[in-house]
Amino acid sequence: EFTSAKRPEPDKLLPQVKNIIAVSSGKGGVGKSTVSVNLAIALAKLGYKVGLLDTDIFGPSIPKMLGVEGERPYAVEKEGRQLIVPVEKYGIKLLSIGFFVNPETATLWRGGMATSALKQLIADADWGDLDYFILDTPPGTSDIHLTLLQTLAITGAVIVSTPQKVALADARKGIDMYKNDKVNVPILGLVENMAWFTPAELPNNKYYIFGKEGCKNLAKEMGCPLLAQIPIVQSICEDGDDGQPAATKTDTATGLAFINLAQAVV
Ligand code: ADP
Repeated sequence: EFTSAKRPEPDKLLPQVKNIIAVSSGKGGVGKSTVSVNLAIALAKLGYKVGLLDTDIFGPSIPKMLGVEGERPYAVEKEGRQLIVPVEKYGIKLLSIGFFVNPETATLWRGGMATSALKQLIADADWGDLDYFILDTPPGTSDIHLTLLQTLAITGAVIVSTPQKVALADARKGIDMYKNDKVNVPILGLVENMAWFTPAELPNNKYYIFGKEGCKNLAKEMGCPLLAQIPIVQSICEDGDDGQPAATKTDTATGLAFINLAQAVV
């Protein structure tokens, strides 16, 4: 179906946005939303103007990760149009379907409702000038991806995977979707998440729980860079639950890992 995706002209819909980056994974639960949120915050820390759109209509998790799940965005009138004002946190502008619907109801939506809601969050929102617009996409290759590809001139894709074989196989499908001749979105690179685990009492040991060098090999095979390797760290999980993602703390090793990721992306 992606062969029928007619690519939009750059700059048509969001002329004030310089770069649109889709963060994708094949498999769910590999840390794609964690990477999206931390990449967005890290880019803002580097001084860029950043927007983040949670396009996971059926399982929006980003408002909770940023500690803004209770927010209800309001609308402003601008040049005769009603525009949704993104929520601001840690220097980034954020919209998520999670702000507008009860997630349990959203899962009952038909595909068409989801895609039209998504289009509204893109076109009818006051995103303003952005250097980077980060799209946290749902797992897999879905209608939502097709809508994004047809609606936005995506500059590049960042693919998140763990080193586990099943995750890598799904990541490869995601890469193939973006590389498809008609779609032709450059792969900016891979992020290996949950790359290893180091227990506090054995600081020099690395345990490769999901396998070793899986993403390095996939990056080589696909001819794209390995942008970062993020270990399994308990605080990444806890900070996500607490609404204070790792990248807000640049004095920690994990915070710095996300700053380095952002530097590799720009
Ligand atoms: P996805 O968006 O791919 O479904 P999430 O970003 O929601 O995945 O991550 C899944 C779970 O794993 C979350 O509970 C998150 O806090 C946790 N997590 C993600 N990356 C790491 C990591 N590097 N170390 C520890 N926990 C992580």
